[in-house]
Amino acid sequence: MRHRRQCLLGLDGLAWADFQSLLAHFPKSRKYFRALENIDFESNCFTTAQPVWAEILTGKPWYQNGCVGYAQPQTSLNKLVAFSEKNLSVEASLIRPKEGSKAIIINTPILVPDTATRIWLSDGSLPLNKLVSPRTLLETKPFSEYKPRPYVDIGSALVSTRESLENIINIEALRIEAALALLKTDWSTFICRFTAFDHLAHILGKDFLETNDLEIFPLLNSLMESLDEFFQYVLSLADVEIFILSAFSHQACRSTLNLNRVLQEAKFLSAKPSIFSEEEDTHRRAAVSLVRNVGSRKNLSSSYEGRIVTVQTVAASPVSGCVYINSKGKFADGLVEKTAYQETRAVVSSYLNNTLTRHYGARVTVRQNPVADLFDVALPEFVVRIDGVEFDNMYENGMRDYDLPRTTHCSKGFVLMPSAIAKSSKVEPWQIKDLMYAR
Ligand SMILES: [Zn+2]
Repeated sequence: MRHRRQCLLGLDGLAWADFQSLLAHFPKSRKYFRALENIDFESNCFTTAQPVWAEILTGKPWYQNGCVGYAQPQTSLNKLVAFSEKNLSVEASLIRPKEGSKAIIINTPILVPDTATRIWLSDGSLPLNKLVSPRTLLETKPFSEYKPRPYVDIGSALVSTRESLENIINIEALRIEAALALLKTDWSTFICRFTAFDHLAHILGKDFLETNDLEIFPLLNSLMESLDEFFQYVLSLADVEIFILSAFSHQACRSTLNLNRVLQEAKFLSAKPSIFSEEEDTHRRAAVSLVRNVGSRKNLSSSYEGRIVTVQTVAASPVSGCVYINSKGKFADGLVEKTAYQETRAVVSSYLNNTLTRHYGARVTVRQNPVADLFDVALPEFVVRIDGVEFDNMYENGMRDYDLPRTTHCSKGFVLMPSAIAKSSKVEPWQIKDLMYAR
């Protein structure tokens, strides 16, 4: 029997209903999707791409693989470093090219280039000096033109949303072309994530696929045509086992919340005043939200970095939704002694639960890290998620219900997989790996 090849395609940002709207534009590939079963995908704690994809790639939950966001604090709550595959506590074992074969990785978070068995096109989230690997790809189109996402400066995004939208669509069209070219080469594991729909939902609102009177519709239509052809090709490959997955979807944003301000109010955290006035801060926030809309680096928005007075802080949230106890074992400038660690953890836990539940009721989940002793482990003790709330470490006001982003991520996505493998009605990210290698 011929060996099956594994293919995982990401459509992050789409809910199952959005995908149905998209299928209406797929006349060529629609029938092939019927062979796949739809299962709910529930990412639980996280709604950002890096930690969800780290669970998918490693087959282990966050508290075992070590990834909780685009960055992590190292040696101090004031110092964030970008999180990559190299920081994982376990191997990204979903990518297992068979001997003599290659893995192809396109637009996938945390993964890095420079392995002999990997062809890699960047997702643009890591500070690396290359966009494609190996560099020999640069000799041919479309790889020589590959860009992971639009690099527009803040000023041009402010004056031209239309230009940003066109950029997003053109970049994705090039990605589809690159993916199709690579699909036709020799590989045994293929991972490609399409992200235009996520970016567009941030800019146009979550139901944009249901309206066809958008100014950009002709361009969007041609993108959907290319995607239709891509799916028609990949879904008709006989020896390939296909998984199609959206790791999160969109919901209306009801408010934003700065968890550091919540901790500050109870004196768990002390911070130096912002170097920006309130007015400057508002402008900066607007600018950063535009940059984020077109998918630029999120760490622009963590203005608490460098401002935490670590000698007076017992807990802080340096990474979206994650709360760390400032223990001496974790951080070189930590405050909490080993003897006070468990009590501090319990006090902060009950404060977060009580305060957040009072405001947000059942929409709040404060997930405890199941590892009992994290005194000297650089992982967060708690991960907070609140439905409809965007975490924002930058805005000086704690909570805000005006001038909001249109949407925020929601932890529910979907996964399509071969019917013979689909056994349950719901899967979590870390379960995908075993399903992919189930037979
Ligand atoms: Zn998004």
